Amino acid sequence: MAIADYFQRSAMAASQVLNDFDYDGFVRVLNRHRIGLVLDGSAAKSAEGKATADLAVRLFARFYPKIAIIAADTGANAEAHTLRQLAVSINPAISITETLEGVTHCIVVGKTAQKLKKKGGRVIYVGSSNWTVKQSLVKPVGSGATKNPFAAGVAACLGAANLFRIVFAKQLPSAVLDGDVKLSLLTLKKDDGKKGPAYKAPNVGHVFLAGAGAIGNGAIWALSRSSAKGELTMVEPQSIELSNLQRYVMTIRDDVEKSKAALAGKWMSGARGVKVIPQNKTWNDFAHLSDWHFERVLVALDTAEGRIAVQASLPKWVANAWTLDSGIGVSRHHFTGTSACLACIYLPNGTVTSEDVLVASALGFQTIAPHPDIMDIRRRLDLGVPCERAFLDRIASNKNIAIEKLLPFENRPLRDLYQQGVCGGQIIGIDVDGREVRAEVPMAFQSAMAGILLAAELVLDVEGLRDVDFPAVTRLDLHRPLPDLPSAHRLKDKDGRCLCQDPDYIKVYGDKYHI
Ligand SMILES: [Zn+2]
Repeated sequence: MAIADYFQRSAMAASQVLNDFDYDGFVRVLNRHRIGLVLDGSAAKSAEGKATADLAVRLFARFYPKIAIIAADTGANAEAHTLRQLAVSINPAISITETLEGVTHCIVVGKTAQKLKKKGGRVIYVGSSNWTVKQSLVKPVGSGATKNPFAAGVAACLGAANLFRIVFAKQLPSAVLDGDVKLSLLTLKKDDGKKGPAYKAPNVGHVFLAGAGAIGNGAIWALSRSSAKGELTMVEPQSIELSNLQRYVMTIRDDVEKSKAALAGKWMSGARGVKVIPQNKTWNDFAHLSDWHFERVLVALDTAEGRIAVQASLPKWVANAWTLDSGIGVSRHHFTGTSACLACIYLPNGTVTSEDVLVASALGFQTIAPHPDIMDIRRRLDLGVPCERAFLDRIASNKNIAIEKLLPFENRPLRDLYQQGVCGGQIIGIDVDGREVRAEVPMAFQSAMAGILLAAELVLDVEGLRDVDFPAVTRLDLHRPLPDLPSAHRLKDKDGRCLCQDPDYIKVYGDKYHI
């Protein structure tokens, strides 16, 4: 079987966006396809082309059980070989071929046109030119000669997103393909001809990256290829779990159970000019150690609380990225001025569902206090109570699943059971009760693109390529064609509730950075 052993998680991600999802049908569709990546000598010689092909393999190999990696000419043989090894390291069970024979749809990097024999087979040409992302469904777009990895990486994600729309067209009613795309990351506008200055190795100073999850992995992928110089402090308390492989683009099968912060050093080994400082801690624990000055912080966290905590530690500048449903977003913030700070856009509005309710609901317990169920769940979460057999029996009965699936979590805290078992797809998989699982699981191309755009904000900021009055928030839906204007201004919280409107915070910020 060529399906990866962390595949349940991909199925869960797909179940959230595909109409009429059923697990067996989903696996059947995937097994009907062999997805190709074709590259030629021009792509293999270009840093941008290599970047696009590398990320395409990192995305395909963790999702499609059958792929083909094809050298269009002898100039691409060595690179294609390297990419096949990468694919096997990501999914040791993958089936890989080396010709277009049997390929159902493919992505092409380089300048060589391709035609598939299979009826209905689509060819997507992807590439980049410095800061401009390129895609065409008709003719090759080529890859630029710069060392800029950002548009090159976004191109791979965009190609993967379009491919997903093709493969699952029947279950994605609004899935129109992007046609010809020229998206400038300088303006985040489609068909914007703005070229920008020639790319040079950016000196990013001391950067802090909060979170080495799926979005952090996308950011690290881009930074590791950016030729940047500087220091990167990686703040992340967790280790890699098997289910993370579904969308962490830097991970290979052997990384499971290693510390994410420590792995960041290995992941950044391509960027010899960047010193990586791992901090195996939460942002709160890290930031409270002393009176830090955070010149620039990249936020790749998955909770509102985490983001507000970063903003409360008063970085001079912060960029943030997220995934939501089929979309992604990136935002950039200074603390003063009229534009929203990071905390402004994550202020609690009373609609955020709390953890105890999510856990109780996922495990089939009553969720409305003071029902004993929800009070018990709250107590178990607060105190880290280990799950005893009788409690697991109740879950098994609530969810109508075999107790054997739950036993690996006996005597472990409930939060482990929820995070790894439910959200990680280890026990209550979508084959049991898909629609009720509440975990938000994005597709790999979503998280990767969010992370690359996040890292791009850093380089655009240090290079002075982002205007101060650039809109704070950019949003894209990866199941629909790119919009003409994805960015919008966002003002500070209108009720004055945010810490950026608090005179004490404003004074400390001003003193810290002499503003
Ligand atoms: Zn604010």
